[in-house]
Amino acid sequence: MISVAEPIWIASPGAISKRTGLIKNSNSTGLNGKPLDRDLAERLGRNIRLENDANCFALSEAVDGAAADARVVFGVILGTGVGGGLVIDKTTIAGRNRIAGEWGHKPLPWPHGEERPGPPCYCGKTGCIETFLSGPALAREYRERSGKTLLAEAIATAAQTGDADAAACLERYRDRLARGLATVIDLLDPDKIVLGGGLSNIAQLYEGLAALVAGYAFSDAIDTAIVRAANGDSSGVRGAAWLWPIAST
Ligand SMILES: [Zn+2]
Repeated sequence: MISVAEPIWIASPGAISKRTGLIKNSNSTGLNGKPLDRDLAERLGRNIRLENDANCFALSEAVDGAAADARVVFGVILGTGVGGGLVIDKTTIAGRNRIAGEWGHKPLPWPHGEERPGPPCYCGKTGCIETFLSGPALAREYRERSGKTLLAEAIATAAQTGDADAAACLERYRDRLARGLATVIDLLDPDKIVLGGGLSNIAQLYEGLAALVAGYAFSDAIDTAIVRAANGDSSGVRGAAWLWPIAST
């Protein structure tokens, strides 16, 4: 049974700045610069520990999910934002500046002409991976191409039923994803990459993805498994729960 003395772990976009103690880097931009953990602790009367949602997601999949058999795991969230988390030996690696795995705010690798300079990002830069691989980015791409407004999942369905614009958008998305993941592999060479977030449910994204990644990565061959999350859309929350026993041992 949980006692009031025990903390509540929160999976949240962004991280707590070591410098200010306030949230930074959240794509829920209203949280940035706010003492979310302290506010919650005050309201709930409990200790709060907050960890990046992508880190929690990666931990959930590494402990008992799609990457339970892997030592070095990179978890990717493809949703309203694009995040990443690194887990080694079933332990999250938050990093010295608490930004380990944050590949979403690097430039899209090997940009084509029309991809430069890229859309503006809330982080203040332009052309971030997130501005090409988030759900809203896919929807924007489809809207610009077709003149129609559909959410990401609906675009995937439309592609299956003969919508050429939707199919083309998904194909471009997959190539951009491959470019981004190849960079992750070059930096970390994880044993397994697990995709989560709403867009990870689009089955077509996995078709031919490994071969595309291999074409971009710096190796003669790539056998990194790129798999869909096993623990569903709440995997990040599960990961926050997993932080508890690991942190207290
Ligand atoms: Zn950015």
